[in-house]
Amino acid sequence: MRFDFDVIIIGGGPGGATTASYLALAGYKTALIEKSEFPRFKIGESLLPYSKGPLEEINFWQKLESKYIPKFGAKFFSHANDDCFHIVFEKALTEDHPFAYEVQRQDFDQQLLDHAKSCGATVFQPDEAIGIDYDDHSVTVRTTSQTMTAQFLVDASGRNSMTAIKQSHRHTDTSLSHTAIFGHFKDVERSPDKFAGDIIITVLPNLSWSWVIPFLDQSSSVGVVVQSNDFRKYKSNPGGLFWQKISQCNNLQNAMKQSTQSKDFDVVANYSYHCDQLAGHRWISVGDALGFIDPIFSSGVHLAISSAKYASKHIINCLSEGSTLITSDAKHDYEEKIRKGFRRFRWAIDLFYSSKFEEQMKRVMTNEQIRRSFTSLLAGDVWSEENLLFRLNSI
Ligand SMILES: Cc1cc2nc3c(=O)[nH]c(=O)nc-3n(C[C@H](O)[C@H](O)[C@H](O)COP(=O)(O)OP(=O)(O)OC[C@H]3O[C@@H](n4cnc5c(N)ncnc54)[C@H](O)[C@@H]3O)c2cc1C
Repeated sequence: MRFDFDVIIIGGGPGGATTASYLALAGYKTALIEKSEFPRFKIGESLLPYSKGPLEEINFWQKLESKYIPKFGAKFFSHANDDCFHIVFEKALTEDHPFAYEVQRQDFDQQLLDHAKSCGATVFQPDEAIGIDYDDHSVTVRTTSQTMTAQFLVDASGRNSMTAIKQSHRHTDTSLSHTAIFGHFKDVERSPDKFAGDIIITVLPNLSWSWVIPFLDQSSSVGVVVQSNDFRKYKSNPGGLFWQKISQCNNLQNAMKQSTQSKDFDVVANYSYHCDQLAGHRWISVGDALGFIDPIFSSGVHLAISSAKYASKHIINCLSEGSTLITSDAKHDYEEKIRKGFRRFRWAIDLFYSSKFEEQMKRVMTNEQIRRSFTSLLAGDVWSEENLLFRLNSI
């Protein structure tokens, strides 16, 4: 049987572009369909150190140097006092992943998609996938301008979750019912030292919090996250709620005193969800297409890049053996692996939203072994079995 491609990928964000790079580098005929013209704005600007592994494997990590500000850690403040819990990635269980980058996604995503092309992937952009059909041997994708066939499909369509929504197995996570309001600002005050690029998270009243993500060009992404119930009455005035939340912390308000807004507010509501299935015989999903948990620990792009790595490995095995993701047990292995990564981040997220977060952070910071374990988790090392926290909490 002849196919147009070995693999078709829907979506050109970090999940899709990383998958395309892996498959094209392995010599497979790979198509990627992206509906938007790039560059385009996207939220998800703070990366994690452990994305370095996959990005190095596709020869992309080295292209990031000097283009983006390094992020050596994460600072957690409380609105109530001046306590700062500074997580420094260099002080994790191992010291070999000391930093990540803060990236403006319009630049990062463009660069990564260009990289996928340079690895040999064929990119159709702008073109939108509008239909998928499977039979025992192939998958057919219809787009707004063409129809193409392949042996496997990768759903990297982000929050569109094309395969999950088509098969009705995506569920909103009602226990994480939050809304984020965010914009870009010039000249938000930042730390004058090596830690100028660290993300700053401030815990605010009513289970709300804010982020400040500094970029190389002196602008910063600033967002506030509130309970979706609290957002309702501000629907027509999200900026009003944003500034009200900022005013709840003196340090934050002072840091923003001299700043000017350079990008309008965006709002995303109720963004956490999960899917019952992450793969089938001839399809596999990666990144946001397979699930999304709260952004407090900046896990989204890391999970997208990591799932792209694992999905690519399974597809390459299937292509070389002539098996499918179900007959080869890849579906089972992949789902176990990805759910483990999500579960471990979720454990930290639940800790953050528990009323005990500050108390727990004090304990974390004073116990060397626990601090290193927690730091490794926040650096994205969620598949290691060496982490004491995973063993202690059976996660
Ligand atoms: C408030 C908030 C804050 C966040 N902060 C962070 C953070 O600090 N750090 C972090 O790592 N993550 C963060 N995230 C998460 C991050 O945005 C995502 O996890 C990440 O973008 C997922 O990458 P992806 O490639 O899976 O999907 P995306 O980046 O969404 O890419 C999907 C692509 O698919 C394309 N597409 C969709 N449907 C089709 C179609 N039918 N045909 C063709 N193309 C299609 C889209 O145009 C898009 O370009 C945040 C998320 C939210 C909501």
